[in-house]
Amino acid sequence: MSCAFCEIVAGHAPASIVHEDERTVTFLDLHPVATGHLLVAPRRHSADLSELDPEDGAQLFRVGMGAAAALRASTLPVDGVNFFLADGEAAGQTVLHVHLHVIPRRRGDGLGFRHGAELAARPRAELDAAAAELREAWT
Ligand SMILES: [Zn+2]
Repeated sequence: MSCAFCEIVAGHAPASIVHEDERTVTFLDLHPVATGHLLVAPRRHSADLSELDPEDGAQLFRVGMGAAAALRASTLPVDGVNFFLADGEAAGQTVLHVHLHVIPRRRGDGLGFRHGAELAARPRAELDAAAAELREAWT
């Protein structure tokens, strides 16, 4: 196998596994941004969202909710939780096997999205034009 997460899911590579079910495996990120940073990966390989079985996608979110609840119930320092899924290398995806990050957050931990411009409210016409474009593209 060539995919690092397929190796983990198959039990052929070490991982600190927290949860498993028929569709997903949840394990600690080897390079966590915070203690308890979890990854939920489908057992079936999909490089990106366009390949992902929607039922696997639904289960990723379901298991992510359980992971968030476990983080909050644990003794780890958790004030909040972020879900993050990078779809494509331009979005920051480094392992090309779909996975949902479940990231415990602390107040003032300094983590967050960076952006290049002021996040000003956009004109309604611009938002409506983008909405129309996306409605057209929705299949
Ligand atoms: Zn894989």
